[in-house]
Amino acid sequence: MNDALKRPRIAFGALGGTVSMQAKASGQGVMPSMKGDALLEGLALGELAQVTAETLQMLPSASLTFIQLIEVLQWARLQVEQGAQGVVLSQGTDTLEEVAYFLDLLWPYEVPLVLTGAMRSPGQPGADGPANLQAAIQVALAAESRGRGVLVVINDQVHAAEHVRKVDSLAMDAFTSSYFGPEGLLVEGHVRYLKLPKSRSPLPVPQRLDHRVALLEASLAADIQLLDEVTGLGYEGLVIAGFGAGHVSREWARCVGQIASWMPVIVASRTGAGSTATCSYGFNGGEMDLQRKGALMAGFLCPRKCRLLLWVLLGCGMEGILGQRLAAQNAQG
Ligand code: ASP
Repeated sequence: MNDALKRPRIAFGALGGTVSMQAKASGQGVMPSMKGDALLEGLALGELAQVTAETLQMLPSASLTFIQLIEVLQWARLQVEQGAQGVVLSQGTDTLEEVAYFLDLLWPYEVPLVLTGAMRSPGQPGADGPANLQAAIQVALAAESRGRGVLVVINDQVHAAEHVRKVDSLAMDAFTSSYFGPEGLLVEGHVRYLKLPKSRSPLPVPQRLDHRVALLEASLAADIQLLDEVTGLGYEGLVIAGFGAGHVSREWARCVGQIASWMPVIVASRTGAGSTATCSYGFNGGEMDLQRKGALMAGFLCPRKCRLLLWVLLGCGMEGILGQRLAAQNAQG
């Protein structure tokens, strides 16, 4: 057998994002332009792995769609079925946490699926794309990464899809897992896990893809018009990024009561960290009132990820287990 075939195979799929962006001419701004194989050039893969590259999309991550992500999932599954020991995706950081969580809900294998990106484009001094990509491949290759679902590797840290968030628009250390902390760190090119893998319950791939879940953020003295129209506009679920521990105004609370009799409603916290409450506040619009009106509280899950969870469950006709799923997720931490 030749040497290349003896090395473990890592499948790499490029989706675009800053990691791949260059400017056509000075002053024009960067746009996705580097293909998968170009992104691998210059990495110190040596004898580590045989990495096969494909360009799956060339998009800023804000424009990725559910349909494209299901295609990416099918591609990644095929790579595993054809013998890849790990799958790595690069994409924009703007929706990295959402894509990671979405894929994690649906990833059925022990084989690691690792996502990465970059805060600086390839032409900027100190571009972090190559280091992040190299680290992502190293994590995907490690036996200890098996059974951990979808991981985000960036800035020499490994984050769980469920907890990771982009908390800074431009900083190099833009990603954090808040109170949960990273799952692991890259130390001299090797991943050191700080936590044991958690039990996972992947969901089936949604049969329906055209349904919609609305996400609305509570804000001071906001009117109720958008909220009031959610049911009439064809949405099948609603997530509210509520104040503090999962609260809304009393006007919004009245609407929540009506909407929750039509569709699943999740109330999360808009604060960016911490859990929603369940039994602390009794005022109209507080979490006790909202739960009485039929809403479910998100716990630690951020509003954006609540929307993805609800979308996937609705798409496979499993919205009945939403409460159970949220509870299980929060119980595991
Ligand atoms: N700023 C983004 C990034 O870091 C752009 C994107 O998400 O595509 O990649």
